[in-house]
Amino acid sequence: MHQMTLAEIARGLADKKFSSEELTKNLLARIAQLDPQLNSFITLTEDLALQQAKAADARRANGESGALLGAPIAHKDLFCTQGIRTSCGSKMLDNFKAPYDATVVAKLAAAGAVTLGKTNMDEFAMGSANESSYYGPVKNPWNLEHVPGGSSGGSAAAVAARLLPAATGTDTGGSIRQPAALTNLTGLKPTYGRVSRWGMIAYASSLDQGGPLARTAEDCAILLQGMAGFDPQDSTSIDEPVPDYSASLNGSLQGLRIGVPKEYFGAGLDPRIADLVMASVEALKKLGAVVKEISLPNMQHAIPAYYVIAPAEASSNLSRFDGVRFGHRCENPKDLIDLYKRSRGEGFGPEVQRRIMVGAYALSAGYYDAYYLKAQKIRRLIKNDFMAAFNEVDIILGPTTPNPAWKLGAKNSDPVAAYLEDVYTITANLAGLPGLSMPAGFVDGLPVGVQLLAPYFQEGRLLNVAHQYQQNTDWHTRTPTGF
Ligand code: GLN
Repeated sequence: MHQMTLAEIARGLADKKFSSEELTKNLLARIAQLDPQLNSFITLTEDLALQQAKAADARRANGESGALLGAPIAHKDLFCTQGIRTSCGSKMLDNFKAPYDATVVAKLAAAGAVTLGKTNMDEFAMGSANESSYYGPVKNPWNLEHVPGGSSGGSAAAVAARLLPAATGTDTGGSIRQPAALTNLTGLKPTYGRVSRWGMIAYASSLDQGGPLARTAEDCAILLQGMAGFDPQDSTSIDEPVPDYSASLNGSLQGLRIGVPKEYFGAGLDPRIADLVMASVEALKKLGAVVKEISLPNMQHAIPAYYVIAPAEASSNLSRFDGVRFGHRCENPKDLIDLYKRSRGEGFGPEVQRRIMVGAYALSAGYYDAYYLKAQKIRRLIKNDFMAAFNEVDIILGPTTPNPAWKLGAKNSDPVAAYLEDVYTITANLAGLPGLSMPAGFVDGLPVGVQLLAPYFQEGRLLNVAHQYQQNTDWHTRTPTGF
């Protein structure tokens, strides 16, 4: 049962081959058996899951249908879930039960999805390895000594290990696409504003975007359909109609113009990954696509700009965790300043503290113009590069990451080495564009992802290309040994 995709589950439920309750029990048992090796969940919600599964079965018995009705999923633990711990991977929120559901959680619940639990993540979504979680690192099911990527590493490891078919993630600088690449999944970061951020604990508000992690593009289409849409409670949500993503999957790729940026193939990219990327280009050419070299001249400035803007926004967003209103409070504070200092010093881990300090520095009087303002100007140049490129091509293709999954702990002493792993993903966040990572082969037994980027609101085009690629390749069907 655990091998089924969301699309197969929907058909099986519609054909009454099994009930959502049976499937949910089966997957909960599998999680209990296998997750101790992976640490992909922070909280399991067995009671809620069984209650939602029974309700979904009842709705189907009454004649209702829907691709998500009775489908088991999990949420990254930064989506607020009413009455359920929402930790954001932090000691700061270890005791926090959200008073309401995030819009994404409410929408998926209304569509009949069954929540099995809340998945592990880098603390406050800061990281690319899922090693900064207060709840311990997540292991990559393809090799338990390697990281699964981050920050949505728990969602990725759980789906890759067939503990469930799909899960939500969030992507501020790559946290859906990068773990998807490192665990052989398909992951989609939508256009900024496509999916509501209401109830999604903020890291860097101008970059954060929720999206689906699943094994296939077809399943990403199903999950995105349940997540996307205008939300008046999120002032940056965009009031655009949501197309039928599943209907977009089968379009022909004849004449599709693929741009491959020459800057993507510089030093730092594992040459074996470069070969797999070019092999995926060849596969798409066979389906009718035409390929063109393009240039994104400001790409080299993306990492420095991102690592000013994201920490700047984080330092502001995380100021609300002060020991008074939310989360951890130190014992016996001497006075108010001692309360702030010790609550924050004890509640936040080292990576979060580093980002708060970098961000506060970049925003401080005298440095604002030199760092934050300059980074914002680079952000505009990067967006302009993409706009120029999309005048010539329909889609941009390249590697998702420069390297396959690294060993746990390998980059712990050097945060900048980990930041460099984000080189291909962060530009989409800076520009607000949609991006998708899909499985494209293996290096030393570890998965490799190819990233596709499209113009604003062209999620359907990304899913179409990935689905057609997956109809003609079998990388996405490979299963890690032992799972
Ligand atoms: N690795 C990036 C960071 O640490 C991106 C994380 C994310 O997308 N949440 O900021």
